[in-house]
Amino acid sequence: MSLELSIEFFPPQTSEGMEKLRATRVRLAPLKPEFFSVTYGAGGSTRENTLATVMEIAAEGHQAAPHLSCIGSTRAGIREMLAIFSTRGIRRIVALRGDLPSGMADAGEFRYANELVAFIRAETGARFHIEVAAYPEWHPQSRSPREDLLNFKRKVEAGANSAITQYFYNADAYEHFVAEARALGVAVPIVPGIMPIASFSKLARFSDACGAEIPRWMRRKFESFGDDAESIRAFGLDVVTELCQRLIERGAPGLHFYSMNQAGLTLELCRRLGLLDR
Ligand code: FAD
Repeated sequence: MSLELSIEFFPPQTSEGMEKLRATRVRLAPLKPEFFSVTYGAGGSTRENTLATVMEIAAEGHQAAPHLSCIGSTRAGIREMLAIFSTRGIRRIVALRGDLPSGMADAGEFRYANELVAFIRAETGARFHIEVAAYPEWHPQSRSPREDLLNFKRKVEAGANSAITQYFYNADAYEHFVAEARALGVAVPIVPGIMPIASFSKLARFSDACGAEIPRWMRRKFESFGDDAESIRAFGLDVVTELCQRLIERGAPGLHFYSMNQAGLTLELCRRLGLLDR
């Protein structure tokens, strides 16, 4: 089976950002990704921009997958989004709970992503391919690894077709997670999420918040580079290439790149992995 690539964007908020993202897509198109996905702010905060970005991607002839997070939403609101996606020819959704934005008190009518997946299936049958999130190093709010794994299984039982993981730099964590999921009878593809490393300080802040570990040996080395952006980029490319190589060798079904709307690092990683011009 060939390796499926997918690439994630966030929806730009300005016309200049939209223009830059168009140029990014032109550069990434030779990778022939299975789909480009576009994130969705919890509570619907990026609704219009997510939709606009997704429609542009689809109009260029690529498969576009909007993310859809349910926290802070009503059933009627989600139903309306599904109808819009449906009439515009969208066939793949990344279904998430999302995180309640600070200051937003009303959690809405969905508590967890498995409820969103069940709702999408109940409303639209088999129309959409549904992706869900998985956490090889465990979701930061989960009570225990076992419960997190069972909650992941719930999303698959509710009708998810495949999963994309939170990014990680410990390949062991991914392999352990996949083995445990398989032992529980979860058979869907679990695609590793890959975060290229552009800036160590930003990555460190973000990783602390989302529960992804930067191994000590990597952290110490990045810290030793100080502000030397070139060394950070070079070392980041080396470690992420090695991570991807190992994941591919061990049978990962694909790679999902968190591109941060930039083409350079994703392209260079794929060039090193021999995935250009496939
Ligand atoms: P869930 O699967 O609902 O899990 C959340 C927590 O609740 C976990 O700790 C889980 O163990 C627990 N849990 C789940 N189900 C139950 C249950 N039935 N009973 C009790 N406990 C339960 N966020 C955005 O806002 N927009 C995006 O576009 C976006 N895209 C993402 C894409 C990917 C690939 C990933 C990995 C994450 C993305 N996120 C996005 C972040 C995500 O919304 C957060 O990680 C969020 O905290 C959890 O979302 P989830 O869908 O994994 O939630």
